[in-house]
Amino acid sequence: MDLIRNYIGGTWQAAASGRTQDNLNPASGAVLGKVVASGADEVAAAVSAAKAALPEWRSLPAPRRGEILFRAAGILRRRKDEVARALTLEEGKSLADAGGEVQRAINCMEFSAGEGRRSFGQVIPSELPSNLIYTRRIPLGVVALVTPWNFPVAIPVWKAAAALVCGNTIVLKPASSTPWCAQLITEIFAEAGMPAGVWNVIFGPGGVVGDTLVNHPDVAAISFTGSNDIGQRLYGLGAEKGKKVQCEMGGKNALIVLDDADLELAAAAAVQGAFYSSGQRCTATSRVVVCKEVAARFTELVLARTAALKVGDGLTPGVQVGPLVDEKQLGTVLKYIEIGKGEARLLCGGERLKGELASGNFVAPTVFGEVSRDHRLAREEIFGPVLSVLAVPDEAEAFAVANDSRYGLSSSVYTRDVGRVFRYIDQIETGILHVNSPTVGGEAQVPFGGLKETGVGGREQGTTALDFFTEWQSIYIDYTGSRRTVSFY
Ligand code: NAP
Repeated sequence: MDLIRNYIGGTWQAAASGRTQDNLNPASGAVLGKVVASGADEVAAAVSAAKAALPEWRSLPAPRRGEILFRAAGILRRRKDEVARALTLEEGKSLADAGGEVQRAINCMEFSAGEGRRSFGQVIPSELPSNLIYTRRIPLGVVALVTPWNFPVAIPVWKAAAALVCGNTIVLKPASSTPWCAQLITEIFAEAGMPAGVWNVIFGPGGVVGDTLVNHPDVAAISFTGSNDIGQRLYGLGAEKGKKVQCEMGGKNALIVLDDADLELAAAAAVQGAFYSSGQRCTATSRVVVCKEVAARFTELVLARTAALKVGDGLTPGVQVGPLVDEKQLGTVLKYIEIGKGEARLLCGGERLKGELASGNFVAPTVFGEVSRDHRLAREEIFGPVLSVLAVPDEAEAFAVANDSRYGLSSSVYTRDVGRVFRYIDQIETGILHVNSPTVGGEAQVPFGGLKETGVGGREQGTTALDFFTEWQSIYIDYTGSRRTVSFY
């Protein structure tokens, strides 16, 4: 792999400082390549290119903008295996999970492309005769997209596709651990015919690149996905400057197993949700809240399925659980495992894997039992292959424990009782709810995001994405040709 460079104004450019950072394979520690480490000057150049490209891009009819997205979706489909392989090498998730992520990105592109023909306004009845009132969406301007490493293809794509079809130009700041994926999607959008300056990418440390972007006077809005520490700070900085900011942040997703559940199904969902992608999904199952009567049997099933998981390099056929993305994440997960050992009962896993996996960031899929709602295990986001099982007396307590979190992204319930299903829907405080299916997963045409401290600033994906990336204009056209007195001032 060559040096990964910034993409500014339609050309690949090195950073002025000449500084680079290694891009590592988390399964082996091997160096995959190098990426430039940019500073404020590169950010300024990218924003300036995006600003220069704005007038032409926003005046291109939306269906034409959509055509470019459709072409990009076709190219990504053709290059799907190559991009999925790069994703596995760079981020660590299994090839099957990587293929699923790339497909999600294709779906998001196609959905947003269609919005080019569908981003309707309204014609609104006037109280005056011969007066036409209508509304239309207009783009915001230059938009900064700051994205995490855990979905390094799908998240930049779902933000960018929605922003672009609305007529905005973008500067993407991808996570430092996954630059290769950002390079590949940039190549794909360029090949699809994105005009120079419409799509720009800057690589470099978040503290420098991200902050400079947010503070730049020509950046109209910021769409961020990542941790609460960073997101809440960016939200504050943006608010001070009157910018529109959207942040999707942490989660502590609960899967609820009621006493009438199909326990085999529920256990399969818990294991998939907790351990696939090494638990590094924003919608991963971190807590299972299970009714006491069935807790022992359910836990037995979970442990049997966990023991059968194949952990290893995501490129190896059959592997379901890959490494953690980097040493920092490995350290965080091992720290929580130690905390958990002091709080609850370790049922399996609980260690870094050695032997032939010793050079990668592998942690054994870990299950803790006898976890209580006050434990740090049950309250703090771990973002790794660690599942906490909390036993509760009944349905009411199950819902209360599931809601006992600062986060509110995703949840799931397993039950066969339709009344319980609707009580769950009425009472649970998450943005995404699943009934008899895992906490993970979502479709491109459906709003995505969380309640409480998980999400702020509006939903991503679906048609709701347009609400963030546009403003509304209301237009009054008087065609009487004469002066008249209006009554509603
Ligand atoms: P992170 O550390 O907050 O980083 C996210 C992005 O922000 C990266 O591009 C990072 O750049 C950048 N950044 C870091 N410091 C910054 C600063 N001071 N100013 C501006 N930008 C800065 O999060 P992460 O570890 O990549 O991702 C994991 C988190 O994302 C978890 O909390 C997970 O729950 C959350 N997540 C949420 C959703 C959702 O939809 N709710 C989806 C996926 C992930 P560097 O990489 O250079 O540091």
